[in-house]
Amino acid sequence: MVSSSMKKVIWIIWFLIFPAGLWLTYYFYPPSLSEQGVSVFAFFILMSFVAAMPMVVNNTPVFLLQWVSMAVFLSFGLFTELVMVQLAVIVLLFKLKIQKDQLFRFPLNSLMFFAVSLVSGLLYYALGGKTGVDLIANPEYFWVAVAYPAVHFILNQLLLSLIIYFVYGREGSFFGKDFIWETVTTMITFPVGLVLYMLFQEVGLLALLFVGVPFVSLSIILNLYNSSDKVNNYLQKAAEIGHQLAERLDINEIMELFIARLGKMLPVDYAYILDIVDDKELHLIYRVEHGQTLSLEKESLRKNEGISGLVWSTRKAALFHSKKEWSGITKGYMPDDAESVICVPIMRNHKVTGVLLLASTQKRSYEKSQLMIVDILCSHFAITVENAKYHQETKAMSERCALTHLYNYRYIENGLSEEFSHLKTGARKSLSLLMLDIDHFKQVNDTYGHQSGNEILCELAERLTGLIGLKGTVARYGGEEFVVLLPDIEKGEALKWAELVRKAVADRPFNLKNNLKINNDSRMVQITASIGVASAPMDAEDSLGLIRCADRAMYVGAKQAGRNRVAGL
Ligand code: GH3
Ligand code: MG
Ligand code: MG
Repeated sequence: MVSSSMKKVIWIIWFLIFPAGLWLTYYFYPPSLSEQGVSVFAFFILMSFVAAMPMVVNNTPVFLLQWVSMAVFLSFGLFTELVMVQLAVIVLLFKLKIQKDQLFRFPLNSLMFFAVSLVSGLLYYALGGKTGVDLIANPEYFWVAVAYPAVHFILNQLLLSLIIYFVYGREGSFFGKDFIWETVTTMITFPVGLVLYMLFQEVGLLALLFVGVPFVSLSIILNLYNSSDKVNNYLQKAAEIGHQLAERLDINEIMELFIARLGKMLPVDYAYILDIVDDKELHLIYRVEHGQTLSLEKESLRKNEGISGLVWSTRKAALFHSKKEWSGITKGYMPDDAESVICVPIMRNHKVTGVLLLASTQKRSYEKSQLMIVDILCSHFAITVENAKYHQETKAMSERCALTHLYNYRYIENGLSEEFSHLKTGARKSLSLLMLDIDHFKQVNDTYGHQSGNEILCELAERLTGLIGLKGTVARYGGEEFVVLLPDIEKGEALKWAELVRKAVADRPFNLKNNLKINNDSRMVQITASIGVASAPMDAEDSLGLIRCADRAMYVGAKQAGRNRVAGL
């Protein structure tokens, strides 16, 4: 990033140097435009054309203008070349779609080209070079003409490194990848410039066609190569992100990673993931604005409503370059300063399952090729989310009891070992466990039927979770046995909790809806339970010991003592 004070300095230097410099150049090296107006104009067209096809290597625009500018210089002199290059810089920056905050690149490039043009031009004249000289008839001028591009090239490189170092604050070796690239392009372009000049001396404007057509074609081919290279890069990154996503199993984590990685590939100021609920509505499920994950708005969109609704119904990605293009169709929430928008359906098995919307505050932030990449990433995302959902469902199923939906034996065993490790590290001071067994449950089954027995188990599960709440974890340990895990609760308090549980069972009859006997009286069933209490570290040192202890307390202290009671050892 370039600081705003640096940008100001650049503008000030430009205003101080450029107008005066241009005037002085005009004063000392006036052009003879009257004779060569048409030719100059033809060269200008060629130069604009070349400038409009810049190549961007490592974020640095590589100008292929030098060959035209060289021919212009040799043909028409310093001032004409200087002005024409400046105009070409404007064309080039237009083509690069620079945004408002990048406007300083105009004075920066303008100054750099001004300096390069001026110094190499002055040096050319100092070495005895002349404008419009016939190199074939006067071979003694040939070497000066060759010296011109050499000086031009070295100056250009030097200034470029200085700018990268001082303005952008990046250190890079002078002889880096960019240098090699520039050298190669220069080796190719300057002989072309020389040929263009010499041919122009011989055959006039026809030279522009002879040299211009093949060069422009070459430039197009190189551009195609560059863009396919870019797409390859994107594809590689997309595959990488796909792998990273596949490693996650938590949906929130997946969304976070997905948006974070997208933000690294594209300019993203706003990102929204919408989920299709019941095939009817789009609900916002993830929202990031300027890198911050925010709470979700409650509103929902229907099919065809807003950009996302439209993408859902058309099943096609949409790309907007500016607010003007989408402001007519938007509905619901959209940030005021959003401009470019990319909106892609999230598809799974040919079905739209959600919509991704990315927006940037700048115009023309996204390209068609990026749309394709986002599309590919969305498929990765959809697969990963489905995978994670499946994993979560399986996990929930494996750790819960199908009848009561309480946690099961397996879950509580794992939870217990974890709690014991907290005890060991001192993160927990104590841990209590209640073991509950329904009294004479066999009789309940025999009297009212197994189905009614199940109903009682379910209602008991509800009463237990309602009572314990967030204080602890309730689990179904086995048939009609339940366990309550109470972290950070000492034995005395645990006994009180056990008494509350006992009362919650005994004091209120259980209501049966599907009992065998249809008459009303038998709908209410009174049951009781016996509860054993054990606490760590007092009663046991490991999870198995704690369970055994609570079990013994339950049998010896509660069941054998007459049932419907609470006991600790
Ligand atoms: P007590 O514990 O008071 O000694 O008597 P009990 O009758 O509860 O003891 P026992 O352990 O002999 O019987 C437990 C009964 O619980 C046996 C079984 O029919 C019933 N049971 C176990 N699992 C389920 C279940 O999932 N649904 C139903 N309806 N009954 C179950
Ligand atoms: Mg039992
Ligand atoms: Mg029992």
